[in-house]
Amino acid sequence: MKTKCLTIRDVAEAAGIIASGGLLGIPTETVYGLGANGLDEKAVHAIFEAKGRPQDNPLILHVPGEEWLERYCQDIPAVAYELTDRFWPGPLTMILRRKDNVPDAVTAGLDTVGMRCPDCTVTRAVIEKADVPVAAPSGNASGRPSPTTAAAMLEDMDGKIDAILDDGPCAVGVESTIIDLTVQPPRLLRPGGVTLEELEEVLGDVAVDDAVRRLMAPGEQPKAPGMKYRHYAPKAPVTVVKGDPDMTAGYIVARMGEKSGILCFDEFRGYFRGHPVETMGPVSDQAEQAREIFEALRAFDHLDVTDIWAQSPDDEGIGLAVTNRLNKAAGFHIIEL
Ligand code: AMP
Ligand code: MG
Repeated sequence: MKTKCLTIRDVAEAAGIIASGGLLGIPTETVYGLGANGLDEKAVHAIFEAKGRPQDNPLILHVPGEEWLERYCQDIPAVAYELTDRFWPGPLTMILRRKDNVPDAVTAGLDTVGMRCPDCTVTRAVIEKADVPVAAPSGNASGRPSPTTAAAMLEDMDGKIDAILDDGPCAVGVESTIIDLTVQPPRLLRPGGVTLEELEEVLGDVAVDDAVRRLMAPGEQPKAPGMKYRHYAPKAPVTVVKGDPDMTAGYIVARMGEKSGILCFDEFRGYFRGHPVETMGPVSDQAEQAREIFEALRAFDHLDVTDIWAQSPDDEGIGLAVTNRLNKAAGFHIIEL
């Protein structure tokens, strides 16, 4: 299959691909997604196929607004609308009880479904025009870092999808926050662009799922099937070093091997001369770190490195999302100074 590159002027063609059961790369404010008609079981299966994604890892349904929630969800708590009022369109996915019209292929057989309204005008226009919810996981091959540009998505998906809609680089850079509203207190399943602190302002008490901060033990059952899988990983093994940035830089300099790649803050690039270095923005700019983290991890696959050392941001605000992706990329191989 030849993958076509579409622009934001091609809404009708993009919607036609969705409506006719095809696969479409969609831009969002978080990362590029691999979209298909979320009511078409066959199209949804094709997503899993193209990604090489395990069938027990559910997908998120993307809708153009909160008015669509009742079409696919039941027992919607009032607090869901407080969240949509404040954060939609935006990087927040809510887990709600599904209606029977949502195919098992989307939810991996769960009685819940993840719902999100992306803050991307062209993608909402495509969904409105197709008049079906778009099921989409991130547009990477399963296990790899998520794509934050159309070019990164094509690295993994060229020839496997009908088209990609290019709307430039993603503004947030890490996937949506996932909050489960079917349990009390609501549970954070994945940190993302909407921060834990912001959720607590609306919800009060929020439980943070264990899988956010640590590796699942073998045989342990996570709340959502997808949480057990290896994720975001470049080909070379990653070691994360946590602590004061001056200390972590010094620690890495003392231990790096001849072919070690380094992922560091902008200010520390000079410490690692002679090594392949990728930067993730200044120490104090967490939003920039979120935008850079996946491109930086992907870049190492094009460099001749045997292993990767990474400085770690702290986990305040969107830093919780960045450290979560980085720690997962490292298989939670973390050194705390
Ligand atoms: P991705 O877009 O690739 O990050 O994948 C979607 C994420 O949403 C995965 O981590 C899924 O496990 C999660 N997800 C989707 N639907 C549900 C659900 N009903 N319950 C819990 N997690 C879900
Ligand atoms: Mg993903």
